[in-house]
Formats: sequence, structure tokens, C-alpha cells
Amino acid sequence: MGGNLVLVVNSGSSSIKYQLLDPDSGTIAAAGLVERIGEDGGAIEHTADGRTLTEQVVIPDHTAGLRLAFEKFADTGHDLTAAGVTAVGHRVVHGGEVFYEPTLVDARVLAAIDELSALAPLHNPANVRGIAAVRTLLPDIPQVAVFDTAFFHGLPDAAKTYAIDAQVAAAHGIRRYGFHGTSHEYVSGRVAEFLNRPPESIDQIVFHLGNGASVSALRGGQPVDTSMGLTPLEGLVMGTRSGDLDPGIILHLMRTAHMDVNGVDRLLNRGSGLRGLAGVNDFRELRRLIGAGDAAARLAYDVYVHRLRHYLGAYLIELGGVDAITFTAGVGENNPDVRADTLAGLSRFGIAVDPDRNTARERTARRISPPDAKVEVLVVPTNEELAIARAAADLTQTA
Ligand code: AMP
Repeated sequence: MGGNLVLVVNSGSSSIKYQLLDPDSGTIAAAGLVERIGEDGGAIEHTADGRTLTEQVVIPDHTAGLRLAFEKFADTGHDLTAAGVTAVGHRVVHGGEVFYEPTLVDARVLAAIDELSALAPLHNPANVRGIAAVRTLLPDIPQVAVFDTAFFHGLPDAAKTYAIDAQVAAAHGIRRYGFHGTSHEYVSGRVAEFLNRPPESIDQIVFHLGNGASVSALRGGQPVDTSMGLTPLEGLVMGTRSGDLDPGIILHLMRTAHMDVNGVDRLLNRGSGLRGLAGVNDFRELRRLIGAGDAAARLAYDVYVHRLRHYLGAYLIELGGVDAITFTAGVGENNPDVRADTLAGLSRFGIAVDPDRNTARERTARRISPPDAKVEVLVVPTNEELAIARAAADLTQTA
């Protein structure tokens, strides 16, 4: 591996995921996960060169978590101060109206990301802690923030505007921002490569179905709609998030169930979606329950697929037809039932799934529509770390 390595950091409220990789080849030198930061019984799992180190230790804050990770890098022969790390790329959830391109972090940028915490109270403060910690530990290496909202910055006005009082919306930054942008951009680009066609010539729908889930509609490579909104709560049914609901439900809960803002926040962000309906947020668990005849799990699955078809229909019409429909992320890449059920009975629209291709166990980009289908149906593994590493490398090499 050459001397051009990028460290990618995805810092959550109590966890830090990281990868050290070569942005050109995508080769991963080391990767790990620090968990339960600030809680009892923290832990790190660090893998390098096929060897995994684990340790259970109290991790008081993000700086301590990253310091621990840096020790593991050194222990596995990738001392970060000597390994030729040229940049650190950080996943930042909300860029608001301010940030819509990968941005070199300085004190001013860090403060601005922190100010956007009002729009993403669960995410941006954690991102800020991760960036601040790396700035302390690697002060001489450029840090680049890559925003989850950036790809959707240019959404058409009709798609990004909520029909509420325009002055209230303007005063509080209320619009559709969209999230998972790094994944939607990466995957839609890979679709064009896979089909060997210029991105400008393809209209497509991308389903990013992980623990969080979103769908985007792209005309000629540019997003024209996406299911997440001001926050990552809107849209599809997710592991623990409700996705779309009647906003009146929130008022009803506050008036009738006397929930306060934190109670509603917890309910909709952590206690809803698959977990709220079936008691589990992991799709493998859900399938196991369905297999065992659990009616609540079956209903959760049906609601999940119903919502996917709802958005598919909307975006098909918005685009006036599509060339490609793509599934990505944990569920999208690994669950053939979801793909088949989402696209079932749509042959009159030129959309079909080949059962053998759909159930083939492959890990690379692949076609799952029959050879003669009008619409290409694809499974494309996402790789947000690689996309962030490339963005960070591009920016720091040209800076
Ligand atoms: P992500 O957020 O992209 O990591 O996706 C997490 C979701 O993907 C969880 O609901 C997992 O159950 C699901 N998932 C991951 N691997 C598999 C698999 N092999 N089969 C079915 N679902 C999977």
C-alpha cells in the first residue's frame, strides 16, 4: 500500500466507527469500532491485516475513544503519526444551508457545524466531538467534513419545500435537506459505471435500506427528490424510526398522552419503526420471528414494504419512468424478499425481478432483473467510507 492513506471517522453519540484506507484502491488497512463511550463497560474492536483485537475498558469521552483506537493502530503496525495519513475524513450528518461540499475543517467550520446542532440534535454534537478529538490527536493532518445532506442541496423547490407558513419555515431553516447523500451519490455513480452509461443519460431510483433507510429519485445523475426531510426521521419505515406519519399524531400524543418533547423524540426516533411494531430493529431477527409465525413481525414487514412501494410509485411518476432501480445497504443488499416484494406485480411498468438472480449470494454490484426487462434492477453495495476517503483526498490534494 502506498503512502496515501485516509482515516475515515464516523462519530456517533456513544460510538466511533473508523477505517484507514487507500482512497485510490479502496484497500482497507485497518478498521474498528469504539462502543459505549461515556457509559459503563466501553469496548473497542479493531481489525488489521486479518487480526482482530478487542478490549473492554471504560471510555469516558470521544478523545479517550480515539486515543484507544490510535493505540490499536500502533499495536498493529499502522502508527497513525507515521503511517502516511494524508487526511482525515469525517462523516457529518447535517450541513444545513451552509455546507454542501466537502469542507476543510478549521475552528470556524467546527463552530458552524456545532451551530447546526439545532437541526440534528442527535448527530451533529457527536460529529463535533469526533472532529475535535482528532484535531487534538493529529493536529498537523487536514480534516475534511463530508456532509450527509450535501448531495441533496440542489433539490427542486417543489420537492424541498414544506407547505407550512413560509416565514416560520425561513426563520427556522425548515426545508427538506435529505440524508444518506454520500451513499446515494456513490451508489448512483456505481450504477452508471455498472451499466456503462453516462450518468446524465440515466433516470434512477435508489433504495438505501439499512437500520436507517431512505430512497432517492435521480434525473440524469442529479437528485430530484428524497424521502428524508428536515431530519432523518421522515420517509421510510426504519429499524427504530417511524418514518412518515400524520403530524397530528404528535399533537395528539402531547395533548392526550401528555408526552413532552423528549418523550415524543424517543418514541419516534428510538421506539418506532420495526422495533415499535415487532419489538426488534434488526431485519434478521424480524425474519426469524416471521418464520416462527409471529403476527406482529409479519405486520411490521408488510408496513415496511407498503411504504417502499408507496415511494416507488411516487418517484416513478415524478421521473416519468426509470432506467434503473437499485437496492443498497444492510437490508437492501442482503434481503431478497424485500427486493422481490417491493417490485412484485409491476411487469406492466417493465419492472421485474429474476428469482434466481435475486437470491444468488454475491457481494458485488449485480443485476437482478431478467435479461429482457425494460428497467434494470440492481443490487449495489454501498461504501460510504470509500466515498468520504475520496472526497477528503481530492480536497486535500488540490488544496
Ligand atoms: P446497515 O445500517 O446498512 O448496517 O444495515 C443494518 C440492517 O441490515 C439490519 O437490519 C440488519 O439486520 C440488516 N442486515 C445486515 N446483514 C444482513 C443479512 N445478511 N441478511 C439480512 N439482513 C441483514
